[in-house]
Amino acid sequence: MKRLTYLKAIRKFCIECMGGRIYLPTDCPAVKCKFYPYRMGKIPDTKPGATPLKSIRLYCLECVGTSDEVKICSAPECPVYYYRFGKNPGLKSNNPKGNIKALEIIHKRRLGAPVTVQDSTKVSKPIANHRPGQIVV
Ligand code: SF4
Ligand code: SF4
Repeated sequence: MKRLTYLKAIRKFCIECMGGRIYLPTDCPAVKCKFYPYRMGKIPDTKPGATPLKSIRLYCLECVGTSDEVKICSAPECPVYYYRFGKNPGLKSNNPKGNIKALEIIHKRRLGAPVTVQDSTKVSKPIANHRPGQIVV
């Protein structure tokens, strides 16, 4: 089965929350709900405080109380289960090295000095505690 995007997952969650009636999330009165800005499955024109993934994380923390409980959530059928850590797990394997160019630019701005980024795929011997995309100054 095709996995839902995080926006569609929130939309599905809201529809389930409203008893399966697709038109009801539109008029949801719970403006403080973490999913409220994304209940229509779209990014709203006015930028909300939290991204959709961050909103899922916050919602899950509210739902079960602690991050340990979120980790062991026993409801894989929940529409947002796949995104409950506030990340998109599907993106991990697409970019195992990290965005090296972007990391270099970020560190250049922060440190004001040129830096090189270690490409772990070209390292013949592993460096102790080295992580892919780690910046070596
Ligand atoms: S915004 Fe919150 S309360 Fe409203 S439908 Fe979605 S999950 Fe339910
Ligand atoms: S994934 Fe688990 S913790 Fe998150 S909202 Fe669903 S049931 Fe709650």
